[in-house]
Amino acid sequence: ARSAMTIPFDNSYARMPERFFARIDPTPVPAPRLIRLNRDLARMLQLDPDWLASPEGLAVLAGNRVPAGAEPIATAYAGHQFGHLVPQLGDGRAILLGEVVGRDGIRRDIQLKGSGPTPFSRRGDGRAALGPVLREYIVSEAMAALGIPTTRALAAVATGDRVVRERLLPGAILTRVASSHIRVGTFQYFAIRGDAEGVKRLADHVIARHYPEIAAEEHPYAALLSAVIARQAALVAQWLCVGFIHGVMNTDNMSVVGETIDYGPCAFLDAYDPAAVFSAIDEHGRYAYGNQPMIAHWNLVRLAETLLPLLAAETEEAIRVAEERLAGFAPLFQAAYQAGLRRKLGLFTARDDDVVLAGDLLTAMAANRADFTLTFRRLGAAAADPARDGPVRDLFIDPTVYDAWAARWRQRLATEPQTADERRRAMDRANPAYIPRNHRIEAVIEAAVERDDFAPFAELLTVLAGPYEDQPDFARYAAPPEEHERVHRTFC
Ligand code: AMP
Ligand code: MG
Ligand code: MG
Repeated sequence: ARSAMTIPFDNSYARMPERFFARIDPTPVPAPRLIRLNRDLARMLQLDPDWLASPEGLAVLAGNRVPAGAEPIATAYAGHQFGHLVPQLGDGRAILLGEVVGRDGIRRDIQLKGSGPTPFSRRGDGRAALGPVLREYIVSEAMAALGIPTTRALAAVATGDRVVRERLLPGAILTRVASSHIRVGTFQYFAIRGDAEGVKRLADHVIARHYPEIAAEEHPYAALLSAVIARQAALVAQWLCVGFIHGVMNTDNMSVVGETIDYGPCAFLDAYDPAAVFSAIDEHGRYAYGNQPMIAHWNLVRLAETLLPLLAAETEEAIRVAEERLAGFAPLFQAAYQAGLRRKLGLFTARDDDVVLAGDLLTAMAANRADFTLTFRRLGAAAADPARDGPVRDLFIDPTVYDAWAARWRQRLATEPQTADERRRAMDRANPAYIPRNHRIEAVIEAAVERDDFAPFAELLTVLAGPYEDQPDFARYAAPPEEHERVHRTFC
């Protein structure tokens, strides 16, 4: 059935050539129930939250009704999964309903994830289990509140069906919102088929939609490569600065817009450890915390390869141009990461030896299993008052290592004119108190799956909406896990 309510869809991707996607409607579910609606996001998208929460809106979010103006499609893409090229992946369990332009003038995809099989499902069931839907909802909204580019969660709906995983689990659908779902793997899909026209159409679409400022440049495709490189360098630097581990940085999970996309077995650091890996499917640690910049670069090389024919049309030195742009990744990443670390340390100016100062703290944190989030948050109080070193010292197995470092840090702080209060405020804006800790997410999922209790989910979302504020009533959410609560593995 087609719904009467109008969502002001304007579906630019569905107007692309038919080989870019498959037209497919969501598969209805037996007993939809609204778990959560993101009313603020709905309003930003110029959608009526009351209507979305009504039985008719719920039917849309469940895939039981296709709203007027929607043109449901599953998009085609390929990708390198753990370094191995898979020529056809595509939306196997996601269906793009269409695009809307938000109050901010930005066009965004509205996509159902877990809405039934598509021609790209292969052996998959096209469905999503409740746990991963809640995890994606929590983490993507937390990332947004942290100020990190990300897809958003508009709604989570329970389907009333069970899905077969390692055991039977309740099914759910996430309504995901993104500037677009175009990935490095989307470019690869056409490139590996020798479909130069497809690559060009896609590149032109991405430029018009996401990088309009480069459309008029003399070498727009080289500029496109540079723009994606810059966005990814900035994004991964932001990830590292909050201790985020994506977990599956396959090229099909890397957006060309520079948003964090595809929250599977992602995790956040508790104790600082550059080699940290949580994803159960990442056997060799390819996507470890500290590898993420290198992997982003690797993925961007794959993107550059797909653009070579377009670059060749712009310049006789396509390969040299691509290599030169790709070489720009490391300095862009380093600049963004070092700037992020300086903010975390409360530094307002940049000096060459700040890199060493920050690096020495991180090395000491790693050796002492210091909690990443708490160390930096508590440094804010210590910066304003050395008498408050105690709570930071307590995070180090050997607190004297911190003392030695803190003496150097204070000397450096003393070279700047800012008041202690100014510094404290700036540090509190750079160092979140609350991140979606893995054990908190697990507890939320367990309550929902085992006891149909969504109160912990709602409470965690409330806390994570204000990551930089002290929330005395929720101070426990800032705490690292007890040993028995620690999550060692995450699953998608
Ligand atoms: P991901 O690991 O989430 O990035 O997914 C990799 C590929 O597997 C994509 O093509 C997904 O659409 C597909 N996929 C993952 N789970 C399912 C599922 N339950 N049913 C169908 N396709 C799936
Ligand atoms: Mg098609
Ligand atoms: Mg994916």
